[in-house]
Amino acid sequence: MASHIVGYPRMGPKREIKFALESFWDGKSSADDLQKVATDLRCSIWKQMTDVGIKYIPSNTFSYYDQVLDATAMLGAVPERYNYTGGEIGFDIYFSMARGNASVPAMEMTKWFDTNYHFIVPELGPNTKFSYSSHKAVSEYKEAKALGIETIPVLIGPVTYLLLSKPAKGVEKSFAPLSLLESILPIYKEVIAELKAAGASWIQFDEPTLVLDLESHQLEAFTKAYTELESSLSGLNVLIETYFADVPAEAYKIITALKGVSGFGFDLIRGAKTLDLVKSAGFPAGKYLFAGVVDGRNIWANDLASSFSTLQALEAIVGKDKLVVSTSCSLMHTAVDLVNETKLDNEIKSWLAFAAQKVVEVNALAKALAGQKDEAFFSANAAAQSSRKSSPRVTNEEVQKAAAALKGSDHRRATNVSARLDAQQKKLNLPILPTTTIGSFPQTMDLRRVRREYKANKISEEEYVKAIKEEINKVVKLQEELDIDVLVHGEPERNDMVEYFGEQLSGFAFTVNGWVQSYGSRCVKPPIIYGDVSRPKAMTVFWSKMAQSMTARPMKGMLTGPVTILNWSFVRNDQPRFETCYQIALAIKKEVEDLEVAGIQVIQIDEAALREGLPLRKSEQAFYLDWAVHSFRITNCGVQDTTQIHTHMCYSNFNDIIHSIINMDADVITIENSRSDEKLLSVFREGVKYGAGIGPGVYDIHSPRIPSTEEIADRINKMLAVLETNILWVNPDCGLKTRKYAEVNPALTNMVSAAKVLRTQL
Ligand code: GLN
Ligand code: ZN
Repeated sequence: MASHIVGYPRMGPKREIKFALESFWDGKSSADDLQKVATDLRCSIWKQMTDVGIKYIPSNTFSYYDQVLDATAMLGAVPERYNYTGGEIGFDIYFSMARGNASVPAMEMTKWFDTNYHFIVPELGPNTKFSYSSHKAVSEYKEAKALGIETIPVLIGPVTYLLLSKPAKGVEKSFAPLSLLESILPIYKEVIAELKAAGASWIQFDEPTLVLDLESHQLEAFTKAYTELESSLSGLNVLIETYFADVPAEAYKIITALKGVSGFGFDLIRGAKTLDLVKSAGFPAGKYLFAGVVDGRNIWANDLASSFSTLQALEAIVGKDKLVVSTSCSLMHTAVDLVNETKLDNEIKSWLAFAAQKVVEVNALAKALAGQKDEAFFSANAAAQSSRKSSPRVTNEEVQKAAAALKGSDHRRATNVSARLDAQQKKLNLPILPTTTIGSFPQTMDLRRVRREYKANKISEEEYVKAIKEEINKVVKLQEELDIDVLVHGEPERNDMVEYFGEQLSGFAFTVNGWVQSYGSRCVKPPIIYGDVSRPKAMTVFWSKMAQSMTARPMKGMLTGPVTILNWSFVRNDQPRFETCYQIALAIKKEVEDLEVAGIQVIQIDEAALREGLPLRKSEQAFYLDWAVHSFRITNCGVQDTTQIHTHMCYSNFNDIIHSIINMDADVITIENSRSDEKLLSVFREGVKYGAGIGPGVYDIHSPRIPSTEEIADRINKMLAVLETNILWVNPDCGLKTRKYAEVNPALTNMVSAAKVLRTQL
């Protein structure tokens, strides 16, 4: 019985690659230094998998930035603006595409399916020339081979590559990248030939787009591609790997009929329905089934007994020697190694498995199927599973009851939004085009140091409060000077908008090194929600009240919403996501009500990540949106009409969910917009009625560039053409945390003057 790993984290157990990359980019180390760190890491991963006993070990799952960008380099599909003139693509062109350079901007980045990982979107047009321009897949294969380790080279499949591409500038509306299939296959053939010559016996094509709702011509492309590649692939075993959801029946039929393919990988965690398909539709004789039973998207230890019985059922269908135990997807979406968690409580630790532990689980399952069950390992696992089920730190009866009572019922404010806005305006007395910011102000080194020292008990609580208070005061005074209408306290006490709340809620645990790559060298460290969530005491009231006492202007209370806390955490897998979300909603509701009692009149509940959690398949989206929006409404359904509820969202890419956004019933929504004006405006041009307050960001906070007054005024004017004057707010795109004061001061000055100029003209 064989074992397989779809892919492995590439940042290293202590983010070695991140630091090596950033030092290289800063010019502090050489390309050789960077390559050395990368080589060492790849070798250690391969050796580790070999030592564990994994049969099918992946190669080419390492990347200096992104695996899709690696495919772009392999195909030589470099957009014109980077002036690529041919030859093997080196770091300069590669990192210019990833991050831009002094004269050209980076390529676009977007979310990798429904994960928190972002890939570099290929830009293809009718004139894109392809040539085999990065031999990375082959050299990594050879590198492992030189260590005596046989690997499966992994490539992004040709159809997925094209389906994830966008049309280049100028041909946006008229060009379908999929039409380039015939042009990229010759390059794939060259790579395949080279891998064969180097001695590869397997090759893995990642085709995760197979789990999406595809049209029939898109599905046909798979048949076309793999039929065309068939003769080049002969003599090789070919694995088509899918992940992140079940494979729809139609797609299943098409791929399992492919002749040149020897095996199929399925995500049996998020795609439990594929299991039914295998059982009902059958599985082609003589082919391998790579069963993804170990979750690559979570940090929980596998329930080995349950996986074992799933595998036994599959074995009966596909045959003993054709079943391969695997992970549900690449392990790059989970944390790296539990060994480095020194601060986690031992009981909680026994419930977890990071990438390194998951590799061991996969192997243990494969051995068990082969009749060599490691009884001690299985019984330790069973003990941990049952301790997790019965632990009092997981279950809080009261919370369970309260959350259960929410299901199926509705929660919304009694008065409609326009009447509420009137009531609020009487109290707040804001000018038209009111100005505000999204919450955070620049986080200086000093500020970070204060928080760090307080955490490490190096300064007293008194000193800490004093320092934060001074910071808040500075931010409040600055906003008054800038003449902003609705103020924020600047969030100086927060390291991260989810972690800050997680640390104060029960049911959350935190890791020291549980980093997951988000994009390039950036990683996030999601909290772990292991138990029922409750709020032992108020979390933000102290600071908000203090900030409000410093000014006569309205001060926004600032909270992170339940859906965002959920989507940016590792979530428990022993109850449905919506139940956990309802629990968080109840905790946030208490905070909202305490803020109101403390005299805070405007409360912002950020749902930055609501759009992110949208399921991949249309059939599942309505249900998600329903409970997500419901959870948001639960948090504020109990406030008075005169309390103004704001929400904020990152990404304006929500044309498809606009009705759910309206259904959130917030009084004001601020949204990221400045990089996609047109998209957002088109929703309103198409006649969607929007009656609540709305603040589409008027400048991009991700860039150090300072927008001029005219430019901002111009943007606002465009909005005014489609939206009612009295609902429009003026604000930046997102929080200012990552900017410097030298950028924030002039940008906000210009923003306020643009609003003032326009007010005189309306
Ligand atoms: N209130 C948060 C801030 O301003 C929102 C951040 C976000 O939307 N990602 O930083
Ligand atoms: Zn944002």
